[in-house]
Amino acid sequence: MQKPAIITIDGPAASGKSTLGALLAQRLGYTYFDTGVLYRALTYLALQKRVALDDIDGLVRLAEQMQANVEPPTVDDGRQYTVSVDGQDITWAIRSPEVERNVSVVSAYPAVRNALREQQRSIGRRGRVVMVGRDIGSVVMPNADFKIYLIASSEERARRRHGELTGQGRAIGFETVFDDLHRRDALDAKNTLRPSDAYIVHSDGLSPADIVGEVLAVLQQRAQA
Ligand code: C5P
Repeated sequence: MQKPAIITIDGPAASGKSTLGALLAQRLGYTYFDTGVLYRALTYLALQKRVALDDIDGLVRLAEQMQANVEPPTVDDGRQYTVSVDGQDITWAIRSPEVERNVSVVSAYPAVRNALREQQRSIGRRGRVVMVGRDIGSVVMPNADFKIYLIASSEERARRRHGELTGQGRAIGFETVFDDLHRRDALDAKNTLRPSDAYIVHSDGLSPADIVGEVLAVLQQRAQA
């Protein structure tokens, strides 16, 4: 089958993008690139270096200097990949509640998005990549060969995120997770874009294996068309 060089997956928080992206990349032998990692790493650095989250120039400078490195897992602790900046392993730190609470504020600034766009494009241009995010198929890689947009109900997304967090040993109630997601949805809404030529997947009630199967079947049909 003729494989697309660049596959993008966009959609709201906890819609299943990372699970699908990682599985699809594995099945195709592609690089998996979760672009949310860059926004999270920047937020983590800003908090660590005490750059105020309304200091747009400071955030842009930090984004331009940031050398985030994403590589295959270096520790066997359930991680999908290892993320580091300046030699610091920040794989789990970028998933902390503090980063989670603030990342959408940082990512909402157009100047910050501009600063991170080129880093995303340079990885995308290498090809054989599955790129996951919010605006990848529309803004970052508008010429991607195959675009997916994932949809899931708020309840299903909150259920999945709650399961992930409690699975990591965090004591957090379902209502809190639901409210946090709702808040993030509102902040991210402007930059969560459905490309007009995307293949839409409604993931409620589907397992990751079902969704990967569906996407691979569509890729095969398109290759034969
Ligand atoms: O996908 P993930 O939840 O890790 O993304 C964290 C945050 O990064 C999102 O809530 C959003 O604010 C931002 N983001 C973005 N554009 C992307 C990827 C992530 O604005 N392409």
